[in-house]
Amino acid sequence: MALTETNCPDLKLLARGKVRDIYEVDEHSLLFVATDRISAFDVIMKSGIAGKGKILTQVSEFWFDLLKDVVPNHVITTDIAKMPAAVQKYRDQLEHRSLLVRKLRILPVEAIVRGYITGSAMSEYKKKGTVCDIPLPAGLVEAQELPAPLFTPSTKAELGDHDENIHPDKLPAIVGERYAKEIAETAVRVYAKAREYAKSRGIIIADTKFEFGVTEAGELVLADEVLTPDSSRFWPADKYAVGKTQPSFDKQYLRDYLESIHFDKKTGVELPQIVIDNTIAKYVEVFKILSGKDAIF
Ligand code: ATP
Ligand code: MG
Repeated sequence: MALTETNCPDLKLLARGKVRDIYEVDEHSLLFVATDRISAFDVIMKSGIAGKGKILTQVSEFWFDLLKDVVPNHVITTDIAKMPAAVQKYRDQLEHRSLLVRKLRILPVEAIVRGYITGSAMSEYKKKGTVCDIPLPAGLVEAQELPAPLFTPSTKAELGDHDENIHPDKLPAIVGERYAKEIAETAVRVYAKAREYAKSRGIIIADTKFEFGVTEAGELVLADEVLTPDSSRFWPADKYAVGKTQPSFDKQYLRDYLESIHFDKKTGVELPQIVIDNTIAKYVEVFKILSGKDAIF
C-alpha cells in the first residue's frame, strides 16, 4: 500500500511539500519524511507509488554519505532507533523513509547543474540558443554532453506554482553575493564528483537539482534530497546515443506517459497500475546499480 500522507498527531507537522511531510522535532531539528506521493510538471498525482519514499530516502542517504567530504549535509541520523521516542512511536509509518535533519534556513533557489542538454534546457536552446540566458555553442543536439557542467539555477516556486529559470547573475539579488558564488561552485563540484562515481557504475547523471541551506553560523549545507530519480535524470550509459531521447531511470517515464494522455499539467490523475509498477521498478533498479545494495522496504 502506498503511504501518500503520514499521520503522526504527537509530532508537529510543519509542512507538506509535493513529496515530503516535514515535522518539527525540536528547535534545531526536523523530521524529513518522504511519502509515496509523486509529482510531475509540479502537479501531485492522485495515485501514490508504493515504496517510492523509501527508495528516495535510501538513495539520498547513499549520496549524502558519499559526498560528505565535498560538502556538509543536513542529515543528523537516518536510523530510527536513534531518533527521539516521539518519532519511534510511529515507526510503522516512518522507518526507512525518514531523515532526522538539521533545521536550516533554505536558500530560495534550485541549484540545477546540467552535464547534458535535454528537457526544458533543450526547449530554451532551440528557441534562443541559450540555457538560462547563457549562450551555448551552436549545433548542440538532444542529449549531447555540454562542454562543461553548467549551473542553471531557477527560483523555488510555492506549492502549485512553477519554478522559473534565471541567469546565474540574478542570484546575488536573491541570496546575496557570498552565497550566490558558493552555491554555484559547490553545486558544480558536487555534481562532478557524483557524475564520476555514477559513470563508474554505468549511469549517466544528465542533470540534477540541489537545495542548500544555511546554519545559524552561516555555513552552507546541502539539504533536501540528493541525486534521486525525482531530482535528477539518470541514463543507462550503455544505451547512450546522442541526438535522441534517452531511456532513463527516473521520472521521465511518468512524464512521457502523461504527455501520451495529453495531461493538462494542472490536476493530478490516477495512474494505471502498469505505470506505477514500471516507475517503482526503475527507482529500485537505479538504487541497486548505484549503491550495489538492495533497497529495504
Ligand atoms: P519538489 O521536490 O517536487 O520540488 P517540494 O519542493 O514541494 O517538491 P518536498 O520535497 O515535498 O518539496 O518538501 C521538501 C521541503 O523541505 C522543500 O521545501 C525544501 O526546501 C525543504 N527542506 C529541505 N531540507 C530542509 C532543511 N534541512 N531545513 C528546512 N527545510 C528543508
Ligand atoms: Mg523537493
